[in-house]
Amino acid sequence: MKYYSTNKKVSGVTLEEAVVKGLASDKGLFMPDEIITLPQSFYDNIDKMTFQEIAFTVACAFFGEDVEASGLKKIVYDTLSFDVPLVKIEDNIYSLELFHGPTLAFKDVGARFMSRLLGYFIKKENKGGLVNVLVATSGDTGSAVANGFLGVDGIRVFVLYPKGKVSKIQECQFTTLGKNITALEVDGNFDDCQRLVKSAFMDAELNANMKLTSANSINVARFLPQAFYYFYGYAQLKRLGLAENSVICVPSGNFGNITAGLFGKKMGLPVKRFIAANNSNDIFLQYLNTGVYTPRPSIPTLANAMDVGDPSNFARVLDLYKGSHKAICSEISGCRYSDEQIATAMRNCYKANGYILDPHGACGWQALKDGLKPGETGIFLETAHPAKFLDKVESILDTKIEIPQKLQEFMKGTKQSVPMTKEFADFKQFLLKQRML
Ligand SMILES: *Cc1c(COP(=O)(O)O)cnc(C)c1O
Repeated sequence: MKYYSTNKKVSGVTLEEAVVKGLASDKGLFMPDEIITLPQSFYDNIDKMTFQEIAFTVACAFFGEDVEASGLKKIVYDTLSFDVPLVKIEDNIYSLELFHGPTLAFKDVGARFMSRLLGYFIKKENKGGLVNVLVATSGDTGSAVANGFLGVDGIRVFVLYPKGKVSKIQECQFTTLGKNITALEVDGNFDDCQRLVKSAFMDAELNANMKLTSANSINVARFLPQAFYYFYGYAQLKRLGLAENSVICVPSGNFGNITAGLFGKKMGLPVKRFIAANNSNDIFLQYLNTGVYTPRPSIPTLANAMDVGDPSNFARVLDLYKGSHKAICSEISGCRYSDEQIATAMRNCYKANGYILDPHGACGWQALKDGLKPGETGIFLETAHPAKFLDKVESILDTKIEIPQKLQEFMKGTKQSVPMTKEFADFKQFLLKQRML
């Protein structure tokens, strides 16, 4: 499969190049030349298949031309070593819990898949030398990427995070791992971390000396595997005999997750429609309402992983629908919830159903409460475990919540991080020294 850029100045790029580069050289996002429709027999039998079997079929449609079947199967099975259960919340509303992975984040699937695919290419070429993944994080991405790449041969990861600005739990998730993961504690804010990473990618001397790559959500190897969730969610609904008129609601920030779902629909997945749930950062909803896309600076909210003022995957959504506002509106609707509405949704769902939502999932649940029509069955994607936002959730619900064993394990480790200034010269010096190790 070849990939083209949403800016249309680059085409014919191989999967390997698209994964290593992340962003196309014309600054667009990579899209596959073709989206393969899966056969009716697959959809007829999907309810009898396991998560791994379904995901492997979907992965073959995306990557089957570029990765041999046995290698791809291993990557998929290795990535999906946990379940993604569909939980009934109330009549017609189900939660697809995406948070049972190693860091309890839905980004685990993309990060693990990407690390293993990159590892596959490195091994196949046997070129030697290390690939260095640089990632700036305000919390969740760093933990998913660090854990996803942990122990993968030939790859080193450098996580840059703002000192004192990530939660204790999140910090533990990427500073206690050791092995091929190095955490850099930057004396600055998240924007400083991002600037350091971007400067490194543009620095000629660094690039001449070492192979640098990124692992953010625009990478095809990170966002496409999220399609697995949608097929498996649908399969579980079908098992319950509820697959007709299904609506999938996705708490969205950079729109990578929902875009993977839209790819699924193009592959024939019989989902009726999608809802993109937003917090106060409602740039997409404004686009649906007006037909004009106007990015603006993000504002901080309770659902902070969705605080995005210029969703990077919007370009992919536009491209999928050939720029047609009308076509987009016919399959996707939007909604917006303030912090106050998010907190109210969390309390209402807890009171009515005994189910604890995290602030992101709360937007998804509320959007179904508000937008589901008679005869429809709704799935919202619960994108994070509530314990990841412990203080907020406990104070909103006025109850204690249990910290899952997996999170507790991280908190037992010893923090190891390298202090770093926000000056690029210092970061560059540090990286150049790593070259020898
Ligand atoms: C990353 C994230 C989102 C947003 O996902 P996108 O793919 O960027 O739209 C939503 N919820 C949680 C908990 C996240 O970590």
